[in-house]
Amino acid sequence: MGIVVIGSLNMDMVVRANRAPNAGETLMGQAFALSPGGKGANQAVAAARLGAEVSMIGSVGKDTFGSEMLEIIKQEGIHIEHISVSETEATGVASIVIEEDGENRIIVVPGANIDLFVEDIQALESIISQAEMIVMQLEMELAMSEHAIAIAHRHGIPVILNPAPARVLKDEMLGQVSFLTPNETEAGILTGMTVDSLETAEQAARILLQKGIKNVIITLGAKGALIVNAEGAKSVPGFPVKAIDTVAAGDSFNGALAQQLVLGKTLEEAVSFANAVGALAVGKEGAIPSLPQLSEVEQFLKHVSAVK
Ligand code: AMP
Repeated sequence: MGIVVIGSLNMDMVVRANRAPNAGETLMGQAFALSPGGKGANQAVAAARLGAEVSMIGSVGKDTFGSEMLEIIKQEGIHIEHISVSETEATGVASIVIEEDGENRIIVVPGANIDLFVEDIQALESIISQAEMIVMQLEMELAMSEHAIAIAHRHGIPVILNPAPARVLKDEMLGQVSFLTPNETEAGILTGMTVDSLETAEQAARILLQKGIKNVIITLGAKGALIVNAEGAKSVPGFPVKAIDTVAAGDSFNGALAQQLVLGKTLEEAVSFANAVGALAVGKEGAIPSLPQLSEVEQFLKHVSAVK
């Protein structure tokens, strides 16, 4: 059954302009693009492009963006049968203004993404229970997400939870997670401490481990990631590149981590591979368009080991 991603699908509407308009002002912009995204869709596509079998559970609206998102996801070879079409809510959108200096302003309207409730996920228990790995983020109804994790836990299915966007989570929910993958900011919000170094990242991870999480993996941007579990702490170096667009870096990391773990790689191997995928994603613009194919990752790793 492979990987089941329970997550968001959004259409990103990206406007480029010299600057953002002031209140009451109309400006002429330079470019507009529609770009598929949403953390769930990004993670699903990241894993599928690396060769994983992926099914997605989510919700889109009964509208043009919804049909387009479904078509895009399907073309990636992802099973879309369990993505529901909301009768009442529009497909999730992110309205993004990017200024000349790269600064961005984003408004996300979740719409159909939060139209998936506890009853809906209960009805999909048989899908969750057959998965090899569940991948989740926090762009959906929290009660639904908590329930999905509880179902997976009951069936002994490992869960990767990318706690983004960050919010305070119940210990009971965290205790059922096999792999928690916050970045430094998210680790800070989950623990109430400042996380800005390897030392503070390890301290935060140890606080999270005490809640029952099996493995905490804190992503550290160009520096890679830190794994902390019962065996100790292990820093896995990244592949520093010049960032063109960091959108979907974390999502590509999580999709790759799931794909590698399902393949049977060790956690350290999986994290190192995910670092390479993250590096490739930050080297290109966009969310889904920036996600690498397996061949690109293999070529990149060959090149990196040749120049070492
Ligand atoms: P972040 O959410 O910024 O921690 O990024 C997630 C992952 O993407 C990191 O753990 C790295 O694997 C990768 N990454 C992010 N920024 C860079 C960068 N500038 N160079 C190389 N890899 C990066």
